Amino acid sequence: MEFRIALLPGDGIGPDVLEQAVKVLKAIGNRYNHSFQFTEYLVGGVAIDQVGQPLPPETIDGCLTSDSVILGAVGGPKWDDLPGDQRPEAALLGLRGKLGLYANLRPAVLHNALRDACPLRPDIASKGIDIMVVRELTGGMYFGDRGRRQGPMGQEAWDTECYSVEEVERIARTAFEIAMKRKKKVTNVDKANVLESSRLWRSIVLEVAKDYPEVELDHLYVDNASMQLIRIPHEFDVLVTTNMFGDILSDEASMITGSIGMLPSASLGKGKLGMYEPIHGSAPDIAGQDKANPIATILSVAMMFRYSFDLEEEATAIENAVTKVLEARYRTGDIMSEGMTLVGTKKMGDLIVEAL
Ligand code: NAD
Repeated sequence: MEFRIALLPGDGIGPDVLEQAVKVLKAIGNRYNHSFQFTEYLVGGVAIDQVGQPLPPETIDGCLTSDSVILGAVGGPKWDDLPGDQRPEAALLGLRGKLGLYANLRPAVLHNALRDACPLRPDIASKGIDIMVVRELTGGMYFGDRGRRQGPMGQEAWDTECYSVEEVERIARTAFEIAMKRKKKVTNVDKANVLESSRLWRSIVLEVAKDYPEVELDHLYVDNASMQLIRIPHEFDVLVTTNMFGDILSDEASMITGSIGMLPSASLGKGKLGMYEPIHGSAPDIAGQDKANPIATILSVAMMFRYSFDLEEEATAIENAVTKVLEARYRTGDIMSEGMTLVGTKKMGDLIVEAL
């Protein structure tokens, strides 16, 4: 098959880790007979420096005419004093909106070889962790009405949580579809005991569930969910929730699996076009020093094969190659421990290509 891939390296370690992801893509191309046409576009601080804005129109057009998008990371101290809407990070919201990416998928997997990095008790960690957090990405409180006003007790501020039936329906469907490819269990997380928006949310999730009789569905209030993630993480499969709850719970889920340098993500919309990126930032402290862990970006490429291209074998091959290299005791600095072999960004990329 032939694929057009938009590459958005961005800032800091973005280019370092993206280079390794491209190596892995080329290796997959050779092994499975796919060809890739790569085009690089500007995004983030580097785009501000070169063309005066964090998300140039050419980048949006380039992404929209590609089969998929891979992003490194954006941001850095150089651009920290710019106003919010002109900062590199504004490009991320812009891309999600322009590409219509309403579903954010963040897997939290505890690799056997990295079990020591899990901050939970060994008897809990030993049961394994493999959770997919499905977070709504373009609605809710982060996009709702907000403002400030003068109230009886002085100045007040408000933000609004608002969800339409359509917004809930499409994210619920995404979660059930993903569950069908996994262990067929969905946990819906809301606050239906207090919030009207959550009551609508839950009723729609229940409606959508009727189309997926094979999938087991349960519901947790968000406060309880945050406790159960720590107490019984092995009992979760797919967790679906709102933009704000998902923001918080996906960070909690990823923390229990160890290093930030290991965690991939996917943002999906209606069609096949998706944006794939590591969850970490641009790590300016180690940029360009061959120290960044490229695994999060490489695992994001695996997600791209699974969710945008429906090529499960290629996705699994990448994930197995990563596991093999970790089991061979190779580590980048962020996941280094005694008795392991320390390698740099490039070497880690090469080892994963070799394992493929
Ligand atoms: P960060 O994720 O960049 O770094 C946090 C810490 O983790 C640092 O010590 C860093 O060295 C380490 N780290 C991160 N990724 C690593 C990797 N792959 N390998 C090894 N170590 C890694 O978060 P931050 O320091 O809060 O933010 C730095 C910049 O990145 C800021 O400008 C922030 O706004 C931006 N940011 C961008 C994104 C994104 O592009 N999606 C996400 C978060 C933060």
